[in-house]
Amino acid sequence: MTDISITRLNASQSDFDSSLAKLLAWEDSVDHQVNESVRHILHQVKTLGDAAVLEFTEKFDRLKAGSVAELEIGQDRLQKALKAIPEDQRVALEQAAQRVRSYHERQNQQSWQYEEEDGTVLGQKVTPLDRAGLYVPGGKAAYPSSVLMNAIPAKVAGVGEVIMVVPTPDGVVNDMVLAAAAIAGVDRVFTLGGAQAVGALAYGTETVPSVDKIVGPGNIFVATAKREVFGTVGIDMIAGPSEILVICDGKTDPDWIAMDLFSQAEHDEQAQSILISPDAKFLDAVEASINKLLPTMERAEIIEASMSSRAAMIEVADLSQAAEVSNRIAPEHLELSVEDPEALCEEIRHAGAIFMGRYTAEALGDYCAGPNHVLPTSGTARFSSPLGVYDFQKRSSLIGFSASGADRMGRVASVLARGEGLTAHARSAEYRIEED
Ligand code: NAD
Repeated sequence: MTDISITRLNASQSDFDSSLAKLLAWEDSVDHQVNESVRHILHQVKTLGDAAVLEFTEKFDRLKAGSVAELEIGQDRLQKALKAIPEDQRVALEQAAQRVRSYHERQNQQSWQYEEEDGTVLGQKVTPLDRAGLYVPGGKAAYPSSVLMNAIPAKVAGVGEVIMVVPTPDGVVNDMVLAAAAIAGVDRVFTLGGAQAVGALAYGTETVPSVDKIVGPGNIFVATAKREVFGTVGIDMIAGPSEILVICDGKTDPDWIAMDLFSQAEHDEQAQSILISPDAKFLDAVEASINKLLPTMERAEIIEASMSSRAAMIEVADLSQAAEVSNRIAPEHLELSVEDPEALCEEIRHAGAIFMGRYTAEALGDYCAGPNHVLPTSGTARFSSPLGVYDFQKRSSLIGFSASGADRMGRVASVLARGEGLTAHARSAEYRIEED
């Protein structure tokens, strides 16, 4: 295996802004073909239902079935999987689930209301979604952890029914994924993936019930399909390829940092790993570690493709400049591998999850720390948040006027409505005004 050379940037160079923009621009590479093909798949699923789902599952996952019902995995099979997996895996899943649950229980929102002096009551009623669809990726790797991260917040929120889809290429079912579904309390599981699974959840078919919101990460076909069905259903976010950004002061073992970068690069050829440091020699040392460790990796090919095309090492003047560059990138995962992570964290404004200190490998957050691993990617941490209980709850405003409240505020509404030329609004409010 020949050495890979990682893109090197320097934040003080005059062309840094344009080089950074080029490095981050993955959206540009989204080709029309993916859009076209996803639109076609969704249209077919919407109009033909189960028949289209079966056709695309055979085409893309090489899984032939007589009916979509055959692709549903019953609760007994989930329980069987839980018993079939090795003891250490079951215990690890249960420990992770317990931590994810207790973290997310703290996010639970409560309804609230308050009463004004005249007896008028205002408030907010929080209700869970009736039905949520969970996309669990399964094309290139199986993600039992994603089952926990998607399903547990939904369950904590009180969602009525949780429907999970997971592709099983060549019909190979992953028992750990099913065991995770059993532990998380998923209600129904279908072995479907890609745009056809998203379409089935959004529109419903003869067999797959339509849901109110689709959550969970996936590849470009899944992300494009979610974007397309938004409006028919809610979606959590458009998840791009995974990303990690490490800010290091140069005092962490370079092998640790190289492996942390690999931990996202191994997801996908398009995944992005960036290291920022004020220490140029340390960047060299990490590059040497990367080339030393790469041949030892099982997913070396994916890592190599991702690192040679999308990875970068950025030299900065100091940690403050590192934070400033990081804020511009707004990474999905941000490791602060420095002496005083709390101080540096003060300067961080945009990141999906922040991993504090040298011992906090991002991988712990992926599996069992407790916070969600479904995080905003591609700079969307500027305006969005990790998947959470709040994604499965919605809020209704509560408004209850007393007679005197209706009299007082009816006068205000009447003036505003007449100002807008909306007479029915005005008269509706005026009916409730007491005669002077
Ligand atoms: P996937 O389940 O997202 O996609 C597999 C599906 O893609 C298949 O079922 C198939 O239907 C469809 N597909 C494949 N080729 C197609 C084609 N040519 N035309 C139409 N459809 C096609 O699984 P994956 O591919 O392994 O991707 C998983 C993604 O999820 C990765 O990008 C990974 O980084 C990401 N991920 C993200 C997180 C996160 O928290 N952000 C967590 C886990 C995984």
